Amino acid sequence: PSAAVTGETYVIGTDTTFAPFEYREDGELTGIDMDLIRDIAENQGFSVEIKSLGFDAALQALQSNQVDGVIAGMSITDERELIFDFSDPYFDSGVQMAVAEDNTEITGYSDLDGETVVAKRGSEGETFANSIKDEYHFTVKALADSATMYDDVKAGNSVAVFDDYPVLAYGINQNNGLKSVTEKEQGSSYGFAVNKGQNPELLAAFNTGLAELKSGGEYQDILDKYLDAPA
Ligand code: GLN
Repeated sequence: PSAAVTGETYVIGTDTTFAPFEYREDGELTGIDMDLIRDIAENQGFSVEIKSLGFDAALQALQSNQVDGVIAGMSITDERELIFDFSDPYFDSGVQMAVAEDNTEITGYSDLDGETVVAKRGSEGETFANSIKDEYHFTVKALADSATMYDDVKAGNSVAVFDDYPVLAYGINQNNGLKSVTEKEQGSSYGFAVNKGQNPELLAAFNTGLAELKSGGEYQDILDKYLDAPA
């Protein structure tokens, strides 16, 4: 355990429906991020109070010091590094596009001409969609969480969703009614974040705990538990 955090309770913000990283099962918050932060807390001797706020809301709460940290499948980007301090990366990710399972018309970005796509407010998926929308002539609608985005596509209100590929793949594997049609885009790795200059002891404890869970095999066990689970 790390002396600087021993006995402390930290408030941690997260996303709502971002399986397999954070989601509810029988009412309980579970997922890779939840196991990771809880196991690191236990390893380092601190406690966590998790707040399921939504992605953009969690980032805003962190900026205004309403939470001490955020773990939310949050990509370490250059823009975010200006306002947050990130842990060591713990998972490699990237953005991908998905459409409704029965959609045979959209097979690539060039089929998006005149259409509306959906992405999560404040996410890398939204940034990526916005970066190509002028070239491919489509509109980007921002919603707050992945479940609502997927429903929007299935209801036909938007033709495609841009989200992180491990999250899309997990849902598709559980027959959520979507399919991916493009290759994944190069993306950033996920990191745990604190507000810039705040809670440095928490960030250090996260990194130490992460390294210990990696060397002890528990980190791999967490990934296996969620990523190898049969649909
Ligand atoms: N990894 C993406 C980002 O950081 C999306 C995270 C999320 O939707 N929870 O922007």
